[in-house]
Amino acid sequence: MNIPALIGTEISESWDGKLAIIDGYNNCIYIEPTEDLLKTLDKKRIYDLQQRTLLQELKKKPNITLDGKEINLYANIGNVSDVGMVLQNDAGGIGLFRSEFIYLHSETFPTEDEQFAIYKRVAEMMGGKKVIIRTLDIGADKQADYFQLPKEDNPALGYRAIRICLTQRDIFKTQLRALLRAAAFGKVSIMFPMIISVREVKDAKEVLAECRKELIAEGKQVGEVEIGIMIETPASVMIADELAEEVEFFSIGTNDLTQYTLAIDRQNPKLDPFYDPHHPAVLRMIEKTVQAGHRHNCWVGICGELGADTSLTETFMRMGLDELSVNPGSILSLRKIIRSLDLSK
Ligand code: PEP
Ligand code: MG
Repeated sequence: MNIPALIGTEISESWDGKLAIIDGYNNCIYIEPTEDLLKTLDKKRIYDLQQRTLLQELKKKPNITLDGKEINLYANIGNVSDVGMVLQNDAGGIGLFRSEFIYLHSETFPTEDEQFAIYKRVAEMMGGKKVIIRTLDIGADKQADYFQLPKEDNPALGYRAIRICLTQRDIFKTQLRALLRAAAFGKVSIMFPMIISVREVKDAKEVLAECRKELIAEGKQVGEVEIGIMIETPASVMIADELAEEVEFFSIGTNDLTQYTLAIDRQNPKLDPFYDPHHPAVLRMIEKTVQAGHRHNCWVGICGELGADTSLTETFMRMGLDELSVNPGSILSLRKIIRSLDLSK
């Protein structure tokens, strides 16, 4: 939303009613800044606004390097209300719709019709551009009381995402039916999260096929969908060749992939100094995934936060990623970098 924000910050003094400035670039909050600091930061703010205005000139231009290598820049959303930002920033599509937010904002299980209305609206608003909707990724850090999920010692390693969907098929089928119906109104792709085995992908696809058959028998309109999975566990990287034969695309979830590769809880701020998404193990996993995907005609993107890390844009281009899906506010600055790269050098 382009609003500076800090999280995981402890402020010891009371700042209620005081002037405070957040510098999101440098992870700082200044309480009651001096006149001089205020002036400096105001200059920075104006410079930042000018840069953003300049970026507007990149709208409608391709994400292409000087030597002609192109990549898709898509946006991540959690809600229909985010689509405005996606369009404003000229994203080529939506690379990750975190559908669990629909469930988190609801008092009880959202019905098929409620979900259908949301997915259809997003697909229509995107006017034929690709919309990748991730199926329910609830559990661990994302909890809704009405799911009555059991308390677990290790929720990040627990009953979550596709594991819930393949166990509680009624919940899964409600969502898949809504997605198939929405696909009749736009270019919808379905993506399954937290995959660790080929069996899970086959099972998920079977449930999807069952839903399609039922909807057709009921005389409901359904659309074609592209099917993909999130690559966010080391297991999925190691068997990426086999998984790629089952799907049309991979989207690498670097947030969880970093957590599970480094055995570091992404929710624990104490571990921030150790949580390193630039770790060579993580970067090699990304590269391995791209290579495996491409061996099987499966396109590969990144939808974790790392996709927007401009210090890695060149690395990702050289690795051959086909797509980066990032927060809408990062699209144009990534485009600017991509258009300045020459990978032949
Ligand atoms: C990820 O794990 O990188 C990801 C995109 O999914 P989430 O952050 O929603 O877990
Ligand atoms: Mg994830």
